[in-house]
Amino acid sequence: MFLRSLLTKINKNKYIDEDIIKKLSRLGIFTITDLFLHYPRAWEDRSKIIPLSEFQKSPFCCVPVKVITREYMGYGNTRAMKAYIEDENGSQAVLLCFNLKKRPWLEKQLTIDSKHMVYGEFKIGNYGELQCSSFDIASISSKKFGKILPVYPLTSGLKQEALRRITANVLEQYSNKIENELPDKIIEKYNLLSKSKALNEIHYPSSMEELERAKKTIIYEELFYLEVMVGKRAIERRMQKTRVKAAESREQGAGSSLTTLQNMLLQRLPFELTKGQLDAASEINGDMNNPVPMARLLQGDVGCGKTLVSFLAALFAVEKNGQAVIMAPTELLARQHAENAARLLEPLGIRIAFLTGNIKAKGRKELLKNLLSGKIDIVVGTHALFSNDVEYKNLTFVVIDEQHRFGVTQRALIIKKGTAIDDVSPNAKSSPDLLMMSATPIPRTLALTVFGDMDVSVIKDMPPGRKPIITHLAKESNEKKVYDFIDKELAQGKQAYFVYPLIEEGDELKDAVSMSERLSKEIFPKYKTALIHSKIDEEEKKQIMDDFRKGKIQILAATSVVEVGVDVPNATCMVIEHAERFGLSALHQLRGRVGRGKDQSYCFLVYSDVLSEDGKTRLKVMLENTDGFVIAEEDLKLRGPGLFAGTEQSGYMTLGLANPIRDIEELNKAREDVFSILENDPDLLLGDNRIIARVLEEAPPFSEVAL
Ligand code: ADP
Ligand code: MG
Repeated sequence: MFLRSLLTKINKNKYIDEDIIKKLSRLGIFTITDLFLHYPRAWEDRSKIIPLSEFQKSPFCCVPVKVITREYMGYGNTRAMKAYIEDENGSQAVLLCFNLKKRPWLEKQLTIDSKHMVYGEFKIGNYGELQCSSFDIASISSKKFGKILPVYPLTSGLKQEALRRITANVLEQYSNKIENELPDKIIEKYNLLSKSKALNEIHYPSSMEELERAKKTIIYEELFYLEVMVGKRAIERRMQKTRVKAAESREQGAGSSLTTLQNMLLQRLPFELTKGQLDAASEINGDMNNPVPMARLLQGDVGCGKTLVSFLAALFAVEKNGQAVIMAPTELLARQHAENAARLLEPLGIRIAFLTGNIKAKGRKELLKNLLSGKIDIVVGTHALFSNDVEYKNLTFVVIDEQHRFGVTQRALIIKKGTAIDDVSPNAKSSPDLLMMSATPIPRTLALTVFGDMDVSVIKDMPPGRKPIITHLAKESNEKKVYDFIDKELAQGKQAYFVYPLIEEGDELKDAVSMSERLSKEIFPKYKTALIHSKIDEEEKKQIMDDFRKGKIQILAATSVVEVGVDVPNATCMVIEHAERFGLSALHQLRGRVGRGKDQSYCFLVYSDVLSEDGKTRLKVMLENTDGFVIAEEDLKLRGPGLFAGTEQSGYMTLGLANPIRDIEELNKAREDVFSILENDPDLLLGDNRIIARVLEEAPPFSEVAL
């Protein structure tokens, strides 16, 4: 049986009562499988003695001790005890027992001359004493010692001890029934563990070495199946495409030329498309002409003009009687897209709508009716676009702007909306064409592996006439110089953003609310300042952005809400205060808010007078680089894989133990193995021992929507 087929519900037994079942459910644990997959977040190595004298090498000591004396501090509820202990080498330390009232057993057990096993983190505390306040004690012969113990993520009221007993019990009952999910030859190739052994070792390692092997096994397996998903779809798409190519002698040659509506839009623009935009648009047209649904990622640095490319693609869909959705991660950005779409596309007779969670009941009902009856051609909005009650007449094209901000399951949800209800025409596609756009570059290696089934277009050039943004670093104590500079720009009719890390009441940091006061009253009294952040009412936000765009407001004091997408070409100054508090990708996005017109733009990164080495290095990266790809790679190097911009919340990284960025080498190996199997050894998929296909059918490691 495969691990994920163990769907037996967790039942009452001698370790589990109703109350525990409820608590487990809060951790998302309902079945035996869930329990197996609730991996420890750490392990306590109690397998060997670590004497007190070694606290500096390993802060965790694990040692038999004797209580030599005790002392008390405080009274009543705050009464605490200090138990002085000594190990066999004669080293001494203190066990700090706070909260004695709630833990009366400590006083009973830690009597003078009594002996115990102790495990805990020891540090030098007050008066140079070696101390520990969070420890576990047990009798000298306790079974809780002499082994490595798991440390599980918990929920309130659920004790580590209890969960340990439960997992140990379940492992004993079920783990020998679990089959391998990797082909034998792969297990041999990398000297991995069997699945059943790996599960035992990950929860209760027999040694730290075996634990490493167990991790390696599980990580590899997760990545292997990630690549199986990607690979399968890549190959299916490739096959579909060649079939289509052979059957049809392409009506419209590769790199299809632009359509009537598209040309009409271009004629109305005051500028020409860049080569990058034109190439991307024609690649997209080619895809949309093809009966295989498009899956394309459009990458290009901030300001390169991706929005326009997505409008052109939407026109293509509308021209073929379809509907298009343009989805953005924030209401601010969605509104801006909707306004641009209205300005540029409505004159061509296209019907545009705007849908977010904030649209009031009456307007919303009307809008939904029009979407369903096909009276709307293009709808722009936030993730509200895929609420349950939103239905489309014939959704054939979906744009996801700033895709890294969305979870991948959202991507799947919206695609589902596209199974057109009443479109039975023979050339209807099985799902809408999908265009994902991003300026936050995914490191190349990762893009290939995680989005391996997608085609990629990259816009490398910028609209002509853009001058590179001049970036300055400034100490907080030199803020006056920065303000003077901005004053001169404002005097020339330009506009400025001031960005702060907090909305309000920063103890040590400047915040948007109080700084907007200062900016308007003290620093720039001649100009109009407005405040914008995520807690401001949507209507007001809209009004503020309108006024800023029209130049009625010169200064915007903001938080990182202006980070993505906001486009006001007359704004030439970006001041980011406490810049060291922002991630590099965020800084890059923020800086990208200026330099969008023909005038010279400036970005000031204002940093605290005391700045860590790490902070310095990061700000220097911003000073020396303008290319988003380079900045993303640097970010990755500096902040470490776990913190890679946007991936935590985005969902495409949520595997069990594996992290495709940290484990990029393993990922590449898995990818090679999978593609080689899919191409050269299809027996593993189709033959008698078709383990991969069986896993996918009987117990898929991720649902198909996971990517
Ligand atoms: P991003 O790729 O960051 O989403 P936008 O689509 O917001 O960039 O475009 C940035 C600005 O450049 C917008 O004001 C847009 O009107 C303008 N723009 C787009 N394409 C061109 C072009 N070919 N020539 C001049 N300006 C352009
Ligand atoms: Mg954009």
